[in-house]
Amino acid sequence: MSIPIDAEAMRCYGAAARAGPIARPERGDGTTAGRAAGTAAVSGEHSGPGKGAHMRIVAVHDGILPISSSIRNAWIDFNQMDCSIVAVVSDVVRDHKPLVGYGFNSNGRYGQQDILRRRMIPRLLAAAPGDLLDETGENLDPTKAWDVMMTNEKPGGHGERSVAVGVLDMALFDLAAKIASVPLARLVADRYGDGTPDARVAVYAAGGYYQPNKGVRELQDEMQGFLDAGYVRVKIKIGGAPLADDLARIEAVLHVLGGNGDALAVDANGRFDLDTALEYANALEPYGLAWYEEPSDPLDYATHAEIAARYRGALATGENLFSHQDARNLVRYGNVRSDRDIFQFDPALSYGLVEYRRTLAMLGEHGITPQRCIPHGGHQFAVHLAAALHLGGNESYPNEFFPAGGFADNAVIDNGLLALSSTPGIGIEEKAELYRAMRALHD
Ligand code: MG
Repeated sequence: MSIPIDAEAMRCYGAAARAGPIARPERGDGTTAGRAAGTAAVSGEHSGPGKGAHMRIVAVHDGILPISSSIRNAWIDFNQMDCSIVAVVSDVVRDHKPLVGYGFNSNGRYGQQDILRRRMIPRLLAAAPGDLLDETGENLDPTKAWDVMMTNEKPGGHGERSVAVGVLDMALFDLAAKIASVPLARLVADRYGDGTPDARVAVYAAGGYYQPNKGVRELQDEMQGFLDAGYVRVKIKIGGAPLADDLARIEAVLHVLGGNGDALAVDANGRFDLDTALEYANALEPYGLAWYEEPSDPLDYATHAEIAARYRGALATGENLFSHQDARNLVRYGNVRSDRDIFQFDPALSYGLVEYRRTLAMLGEHGITPQRCIPHGGHQFAVHLAAALHLGGNESYPNEFFPAGGFADNAVIDNGLLALSSTPGIGIEEKAELYRAMRALHD
C-alpha cells in the first residue's frame, strides 16, 4: 500500500526534503546563521561542546506529509489535511547508522513548516550541545531543548507554535529513547514516572465521520469492523447532521454495540452554541454514553460550565487547548468534574511531553488524576506516554489519516488493549509507510 498522494504533492515534499529544508535565517547584519540541513547543519557551530557533551545533533530535516481524505466532522473536511514530519539526525552510530529521531504533528492540524524552519529548527541547531544534553552528556534532555526552542517567544498565543514545538519534542524524545536503547515508555517512566510503565494501553476506535455516500448501514459496518479488530469502545461524529439524524446514527451504532452506551462516545468538534449543546445533551443523556465530546467552542469555558451543570454524563474536551495555561483556565472556569470528565490534551499539538507534564501537574493540583486523561490524536507517541504516566488510555484512528493514523502495522488490539512494543523509541520504524516518508527526509 502506498501513500495516497498525487505525484505533484510528492515531488514538492521530496524536493523539500532533498533541498535541505532549513531556510537560512537572516541576521540583522545581513549574514546568515545556521546551515541548510542535508548539508550537515551542525549543532553548536557557534560554540564548542560543553564539558562532558558527547553527543550532538548534526541535522534536522522537515517535510510536509499529506494525510487528506474525504471525511468530514461537524466543522471541517479533511480534503487538504497534511502534517509536518521531522527527522533529527544525531552523531550516535549504532549498527553503522546514525540514530535518528522522528516526529510528526499529530492528526487533524496542518503542517507547521514556516515556524519550524524560521524559528524552532534554527534555534536547536544554533544551541551549544551542552544546552541540549542531560548531565551525562551522552543523551538529550528534551526539557532543555524546549527552553532553547522557546527563546524569544512571548507568552500566550499558543495556536500554531505549540504544534511546531510538539513535532520536534516528539522527535527529540524518540531519539533520546533510541540512544538509551529502550522504548519511549520505559524512558519516560524512568525519568518522570514511577519506573513501571503499563504493558498495555486502553485504546478506543475513533471514526464515524460524515462522508459522501455513507449511510447508517455503512456506519454500522465501520463500527463492526472496529469490534472485529479488537476494540471495545468506539466514537462517532455528531453535529454535522440534524439532531434527529444524529440520534438515528447513534441508535444504529448502539445496536451494533449490543445496547451498551458506555461503549460509545460522540464528538461534536466544538460546533454547538449553548442552546444546541443543551438540546443534544438532553437527547443524549438517556443513552449513558462514555462521553459527549467538545459540545461547544473549546475556549468558551463559561458555556462549557453551563453544559456541565446540566449534563450528568461525562464531558470530554481539551484537544484544542495547547498549553497548560489554557488547560488551567478550563479547570478554573469550565466546571469540570474530576470524577467523570475526560481530558484530551494532545501532547503532539501542545508543545510536546515537556508541556504535557506541566499540564498533568496542574491537573493534579486540582484533584484530577492522570487516569482521567485520554489524549487526542491516535499516535504512537501518546501511547507510550499513556503507558509511562498511567493515563486513562489513548485515541486510535484505525481507518483515517494514512499513513500517520494508526499504530504499528503489526499492532494487535485485544479486548480494547494495545500491547506496547519493545522497539527502542516510539516505534515509527514498525509503521512502514510512515517510516518510509520519514526516511525520505534524510536518506
Ligand atoms: Mg475530538
